[in-house]
Amino acid sequence: MDLKKIKKIPFGDFSEKSRVRWKVEVRRPVVSGERLLAVDFLRNTECTAYKREDSSFRIVCGKKSREVRGIMAADADKPVRVTDEALRAISGCRHEYILISEKDEAALSRFLGGASQNHYIDLLADWAEEVREEQKKRERQKRGGLMDEDYRLCPEALPAGLLEFIRETVLPEDDTLVYKKGNVRGLCYACGQEVRARGQRFRQNERVRCPNCGQEVICVLEGSSAFRADFVENIIAVQKGTDGETVFFRQWLLRRDPSAHWERIEVFLKETARYAVRGRKTAKWQRESKENYYMNCERYDMEEWTRWRDNRIYDGGYYFYPGGAAEALQGTRMQYADLEGYLADKTSRWKNPVHFLEYHAKYPVMEFLWKKGYKTITHRRIGGMSRETRDAIRWQRDSLKECFKFPLRFLRLKLPEEWTLDDIARLNALWQMQGEKLKEEEIRMFLEMRIDTKDVLAALPYASVGRILGYIKKQTEKRQAAFVKRHDWEKPPGFASVAHEYRDYLSECTQLGLDLHNREVLFPKDLKAAHERTMAQVSFEKNKTDQGKFQKAVDRLEKYSWQKDGLLIRPAGTQEELRDEGRALHHCVGGYIRQMADGETAIFFVRKLDAPDTPYFTLELQKKRVIQCRTAHNASYERYPEILSFVQEWEQEVVTGNEGKKKKEEPAA
Ligand SMILES: [Zn+2]
Repeated sequence: MDLKKIKKIPFGDFSEKSRVRWKVEVRRPVVSGERLLAVDFLRNTECTAYKREDSSFRIVCGKKSREVRGIMAADADKPVRVTDEALRAISGCRHEYILISEKDEAALSRFLGGASQNHYIDLLADWAEEVREEQKKRERQKRGGLMDEDYRLCPEALPAGLLEFIRETVLPEDDTLVYKKGNVRGLCYACGQEVRARGQRFRQNERVRCPNCGQEVICVLEGSSAFRADFVENIIAVQKGTDGETVFFRQWLLRRDPSAHWERIEVFLKETARYAVRGRKTAKWQRESKENYYMNCERYDMEEWTRWRDNRIYDGGYYFYPGGAAEALQGTRMQYADLEGYLADKTSRWKNPVHFLEYHAKYPVMEFLWKKGYKTITHRRIGGMSRETRDAIRWQRDSLKECFKFPLRFLRLKLPEEWTLDDIARLNALWQMQGEKLKEEEIRMFLEMRIDTKDVLAALPYASVGRILGYIKKQTEKRQAAFVKRHDWEKPPGFASVAHEYRDYLSECTQLGLDLHNREVLFPKDLKAAHERTMAQVSFEKNKTDQGKFQKAVDRLEKYSWQKDGLLIRPAGTQEELRDEGRALHHCVGGYIRQMADGETAIFFVRKLDAPDTPYFTLELQKKRVIQCRTAHNASYERYPEILSFVQEWEQEVVTGNEGKKKKEEPAA
């Protein structure tokens, strides 16, 4: 479908004084030999009944080509791209009142057919959704991605040796004792015997020695929501699909045999999830899902295998059955992965062989990282990366050189297992700033000091990395030499904290307009003293400006000053006064200074005319409405009838009332 031509047909908003939001216009342009249906939804600019600002949009449908596209009017000057935004927008119009001519409606009817509830807009939305799904499927197929129904390529039979694996590895590690209500009788899954508590009773999640076999077991109450009460563990095995190409990781949940005899393990296995890898593409389906509420977890079955968006392991932990893996991975991108080494590795307690293999298929750099010993990084990638380090390595690239943002020779500056993703991210930032100017010695120092790149960046325009790091190092050493421990938990300052202080100092220097080209300013002999000076200076300057702002806010509120029946009300005059009022009445009005200066709120004092300087009631006004009015210890004015009526009258007469009314005298009661 050539959208360029269709985009050239102008469309925009329409305008009518009514609550109608959309006017619909239909066209039948011919593009590349196909008569298309183009439906414009024109937004009524006069209609303000809806808060959200929608944009006019156009839906283009091709019956023969089975295609649907959307164009937002707001994107008219951008290059043509297919947008799902318009397809979402039309779905929102299903039940809305629209304007459409009889002729246009007839055109929609001819194209869509069927019976409509709302001028064929509902049918058009259905049609668009259906065709969009088809289109997505075609696109996915073209990219070689896994299709929703590809779970069917998974063999149904259990992998050879799985039951033996469960019997020999999983069951012997099951240290659970399921006890009955009453906390005395139970079943030990370590020895498979019914047991009775001796002395101490069984309690949820407590470790005890089994009265029968003596093994340490964890107690769980029968029928409780604890996972162990009903299940032993999840188990995942790998199998090649029936197409000979797709690799499946199948996940079963092993339910407890209530007799603990385990004669027929297969009866207690329930397949819950499938993860597939084909080429570089991955997919996941689930047959079971769960909902968590109030600390309880409700599992429910799904009628069919359902494609899942995330690639997380369902249910968290699992046993990995490695039997048949070599055969299943043969001929795939995962075939050279060091699965055995990974499973035997002791550097990380938490392992996820499914992701280890999956990421070998997706990211060629994985094999290099693991085999060369970058274990910390590999474990991090598999366990989940932070937002800060997610892009430290260009995972998707094919060549090693392109995966790293700095020259590969820098990797030699540290032992492979010592490298972290954080190091990589920090060096990336430094390399981006300095490039070839960087000396290896500087990098080594930078990595060793473990300081945040941002703490160095501020000084880089004025000095070399080596010079800056040397300064931070010297200041840190000086600080450490003078350090006296007063509490056990106190630690001498490290490079990172001094570097951070240096960054604060530099930023204050910039704020104060100090000349950083001056070496005395850039590298003060005593950083701590210099920082204290700049901090004090900055806070002084800031208060000065705030005071001006505060005073302006007070001037604007002066017009609400008023007095009646022996009471007066006026805005807080100064910051000091506001602070004193809070102190005298024991409430927290002192903290409102900034909000008042910014005009977000207004604080007024209600006082007795014969004691105008003594705090009495404090009132907060926002958008001309009284938010609160309080006296000592936060007591509200609603309990004081004379204050209540004074404030209500003030609100009506002075704050929201008109000028004429305000001046008029109240008739005598
Ligand atoms: Zn036992």
